[in-house]
Amino acid sequence: MIEELFLNEATGHDIYHLFRVKKLALQIADKEGGDKQLISLIALLHEMDDYKLNILTEEKAREWLEEQGYEKDFIEKVIRNAKNISYSKGKWELLDWEGKIVQDADRLDALGAIGIARVFATSSKLGKPIYDPKKPLDIDASAIHHFYVKLFKLPSLMNTKTGKELAKKRVRYMKAFLKRFFKEWNGDIE
Ligand code: ADP
Repeated sequence: MIEELFLNEATGHDIYHLFRVKKLALQIADKEGGDKQLISLIALLHEMDDYKLNILTEEKAREWLEEQGYEKDFIEKVIRNAKNISYSKGKWELLDWEGKIVQDADRLDALGAIGIARVFATSSKLGKPIYDPKKPLDIDASAIHHFYVKLFKLPSLMNTKTGKELAKKRVRYMKAFLKRFFKEWNGDIE
């Protein structure tokens, strides 16, 4: 069900985003602990009710979990965590440890090479340009602005030590990309 719903999503919130978040979260859990079944389900359902997507409702997710035969309390736990992963609308205090791990994994997928690809895809969907040199870098005016407005702040917001280390590494890669981007933007022919 989840695979069918998310397959054609075009802003980098597709099924492969869900698979990557699940994989990253399970790797973080190898180092930091946590219930892996709970982590997997939170990861696969964490985009439900996203305003940008409108693909999977909470009601549909709950029905699907019931069909899989999970206990009511466990289902509520999955839903509460999945609903609160989001950077913009999630409530951090409602996350269990497993939810915090998935939140780190979700944020890691906004960083690094994949993060660069996703920010341009999402910007385009939001009608924003690649870059607008006339706007100050602290407003969300373009894909490049989004690096500064949000993405570079993510390492300091990580919940786990492992997540923070990985986030710093991915940000280093993005800074190298930006260095090259501005070089080419300014007409450097090398
Ligand atoms: P969350 O689902 O945690 O609230 P977002 O949906 O804001 O996170 O971000 C998910 C992806 O969309 C990230 O890769 C991010 O870079 C991109 N994105 C979100 N908002 C913007 C924006 N205003 N401009 C460009 N990219 C964005």
